[in-house]
Amino acid sequence: MDKKLKLHFYSGTGTVTGANFLLENSDVRILVDCGLTQGQRFESENDPNRRPFPYDPKDIDYLFITHAHIDHIGRVPKLVKDGFSGKIISTPTTREISAVMLDDAASINEEESRKNNLVPLYEKKDVEGALSIWETLNYHTEMKLNDDFSVILKDAGHILGSAMICLTERESGNKIVFTGDLGNTPTPLMKDTEDITDANYLIMESTYGDRNHESKDLRLSKLKEVLTTIIQRKGTLLIPVFSLEKTQVLLHEMNHLIEGGEIPQVPVFFDSPLGIRLTDIYAKQFKNFNEKVQARILAGDDIFDFPKLIRTYSKLESKQIYKVPGPKVIIASSGMSSGGRIIWHEKEYLPDPKNAILFIGFQALGTIGRAIEEGSREVKIEGERVPVKAQIFTVSGYSSHKDSDGLVDFVSKSAPTLKKVFTVMGEPKATMFLAQRLRDNLNVEAVHPREGQIVELE
Ligand SMILES: [Zn+2]
Repeated sequence: MDKKLKLHFYSGTGTVTGANFLLENSDVRILVDCGLTQGQRFESENDPNRRPFPYDPKDIDYLFITHAHIDHIGRVPKLVKDGFSGKIISTPTTREISAVMLDDAASINEEESRKNNLVPLYEKKDVEGALSIWETLNYHTEMKLNDDFSVILKDAGHILGSAMICLTERESGNKIVFTGDLGNTPTPLMKDTEDITDANYLIMESTYGDRNHESKDLRLSKLKEVLTTIIQRKGTLLIPVFSLEKTQVLLHEMNHLIEGGEIPQVPVFFDSPLGIRLTDIYAKQFKNFNEKVQARILAGDDIFDFPKLIRTYSKLESKQIYKVPGPKVIIASSGMSSGGRIIWHEKEYLPDPKNAILFIGFQALGTIGRAIEEGSREVKIEGERVPVKAQIFTVSGYSSHKDSDGLVDFVSKSAPTLKKVFTVMGEPKATMFLAQRLRDNLNVEAVHPREGQIVELE
C-alpha cells in the first residue's frame, strides 16, 4: 500500500440501501456507514447481508456513522462479530437511536432466523459489543484521527442526529465529505441542512436524484381533510408508518391540528413499541430541533402528545383496540405493511368501506402497501385473503430526503472547489440523472460509481 488516498465503493452504490464506503491510505482505513441491504429478509439463506465483508473487518480503524436509519447501521453488529475492533463514531443522538434500532433488529433477526433454522446474522450480545466501542462526537468539534486526518460532523437535517462526515487530509489539503442522507429542508422538526462550501470531493446521496417532490404546503391541509372525512363518518383510519422520523413528524402535525382545534379530539392509538421508544428519545431533544419547534417546546407544548393519544405497548393491548368504536385513528408500523402490528389492523379494518388507510411514505414494489395503494381489491396478508373496501388516501410531501433541485442546490455551494462528485445511494436512474444534472447545471465533474469500484483521489 502506498500513501495514495483511495475510495472504495461497496454496497449503497446504484441502490438506496446498504450504505458502506471505505476511504484509505497506507496509514488509516476509514469506513463510512455499514447498512443493511433491504428488500431481502433475514431468514433467507441468500440474503446479501449474510455475505462476508469485501474487506477484513480487523483491518479497519474507524467506522463513522452518518445516521441511525437501518440501511446505514444495520450491519454494524455483524462487522463487530466478524472482527472489527476499531472505533465507531457518531453524534451522541445517533448512538442513542442506533442502540434502540439495533436492539429491535437483533430481536427480529433472532426470531426469524430461529424459525428458519438459520444462524442469526447477529444477536443482542453483538449489539452490546458494538456499543462498547461506539464513541460520540458533537457537531462542529474537530477530532484528529492521526497526523494525516481530522474530521468534523455537520448537521445533515435528515433525521435527529444525522450528520455529514467532513474529513480533511492534511498533506494534500483535500476535504472529503460523505453526506449520508440529506434532509428535505425546511422540515417540520429538523434544522436546515448545513451548507458545505469548500469540499473537494463529495460522496452524496441521490435517492430522489431524478425527481422533485410535491409541494409541502399541501401536506397539512390534506392530512386535515382525510382526518375530517373519517371522523365525520365514524370510521377507523389506519396510518402505516416507519418508526423513525415519519412517526414523529406525523405526531407533531396531529398535535398541531388537534390542539389548534382544527379537528375534533378522537382516540388515536399509537400502536408501535419501537416508535414509542424512539419518540421518547425525540421528546428529550431540544437543541437539535429547528427554532420554530424549540419555541413551541419553550411555550410548554409536548409536541408529540395531544388529548386522547393512547400508547399501546403489549400485543394484548393492541388486539383490544378493535373494541373501541370509531371514529378512531391507528398509527402502527411497518410503513409498507410488510410486517409489524399494522397487518393485523389491516385484516380487521380493510374489508369495511367506512374505514380508510392513509399512506404517507413510499411503498416499494412487491409490498402489500404498494398493492393496496395501487387499488388491489384483495390482498394476501399472512396467507389470508383480505378484501380491500376501505378508502385509500396518499399524502405525499413527507419525504425526509432532498429532491433533485435540492441536491443540485446543495452541491452548487461547493462548486468552485469541487474536484469530483460521486453520486451514490440511489437507484441507477436517479444516480445517473443527478450526475448528469450536476455536470450540465454546475459544470462540475460528477460520476456515478459502480459497486466494487475503487477510485484514487488526487
Ligand atoms: Zn436515512
